[in-house]
Amino acid sequence: MERIGIYGGAFNPPHLGHIRGAKYALETLGLAKILMIPSCISPHKDSPPNSPTPRQRMEMLRLALDGERGIEVSSIELDRGGTSYTWQTLQQLREQYPDAELVLLIGTDMLLSIETWMQYEKILKEASLAVFYRGEKDESRKIADKKKQLEAMGGNVHLVDNPVTEISSTQLRRMLVFGCASPFLPESVETYIRQNGLYGTAQNYRNLPMDQLEQVVVGLLKPNRVKHVLGCRDTAAELARLWGEDETLAARAGLLHDITKALDGPLQLTLCQEYGTVLDSFSCKNPKTLHALTGSLVADRIFGESKAVVDAIRTHTTGKANMNLLQKIIYVADYMEPNRDFPGVEKLRRLAHTDIDGALKLGLQMTLDMLRQQGSECSPESLEALRYLQNAQQP
Ligand code: FE
Ligand code: FE
Repeated sequence: MERIGIYGGAFNPPHLGHIRGAKYALETLGLAKILMIPSCISPHKDSPPNSPTPRQRMEMLRLALDGERGIEVSSIELDRGGTSYTWQTLQQLREQYPDAELVLLIGTDMLLSIETWMQYEKILKEASLAVFYRGEKDESRKIADKKKQLEAMGGNVHLVDNPVTEISSTQLRRMLVFGCASPFLPESVETYIRQNGLYGTAQNYRNLPMDQLEQVVVGLLKPNRVKHVLGCRDTAAELARLWGEDETLAARAGLLHDITKALDGPLQLTLCQEYGTVLDSFSCKNPKTLHALTGSLVADRIFGESKAVVDAIRTHTTGKANMNLLQKIIYVADYMEPNRDFPGVEKLRRLAHTDIDGALKLGLQMTLDMLRQQGSECSPESLEALRYLQNAQQP
């Protein structure tokens, strides 16, 4: 019996991970062909603001698959319009291919939430499932249990041992704003995105007024980081007022300090590569601390911020020797903003109002102590920063 792969999704935008996944499925699952089906309106997630139209998503998918044999784009869900329910799509395809085995390609995340799909029993009846590992967490136990459960209901579930894709569409949209999405996109798709100004690529982000800057920043952060960043902005402005630093610069640096924090380690490294930045050995081994460096690069190149702001973002995680007042303020504000809660934070807050160097020193000491306790490597910059402060204090 002919097996036909069904690969649906928002493809917002389609990227090399989608194409590699489809090719891998085509080669390993014995499929005659794969239909890639962009959804019209996804029942599972709201499309983020500034998303292209369904037709534009389909156009990008066509460009991405140009010349790929055995993989076709189907407009079935766009033609039907409205919310795209998979069971309806499968029923339509069943009429078109009465004798084929339909193989629905889904991710492990979708498998685990299959009960939330409309008419999922019909889906199980109409198609077998080929489940692609998404590599988010180790959920192999849950996945195996779910497979058993669905098979007991008469479903046919095959777990695919696929190589894990290194990017999601959400991350890709961030990388597009930062100007370094090329490694993950077919050239034709990136050209289309830029020509049509999709995903905010036509926007000028330089020297934005504060309210617009806030909007853009919030859109680039993970939702759970927004409070921290706004808290840091306000605390930085307050400390600037207290210590006679420029309040606007402090607020801007506070707002932008974690701008690339949502990118994981490999994406941090990709950003550095795309910007042509050579890394020291500590940064290569500890990509988590890299968001200070990449944040400063983005603040400079994309947001056109002043050198003072860029420098303050650069040193906000590790510090460095001989920091200027704005750098100290951002380092301390990041540590003590109102959402921070750890033993010693009150002491740090008190010190920040009476002795900014003392607060900085305490912050550095606490970070280094924690790293040592965890058995992690300490940044050479933090060690130098602390040594500098200790020497400065000696009579
Ligand atoms: Fe940070
Ligand atoms: Fe932070």
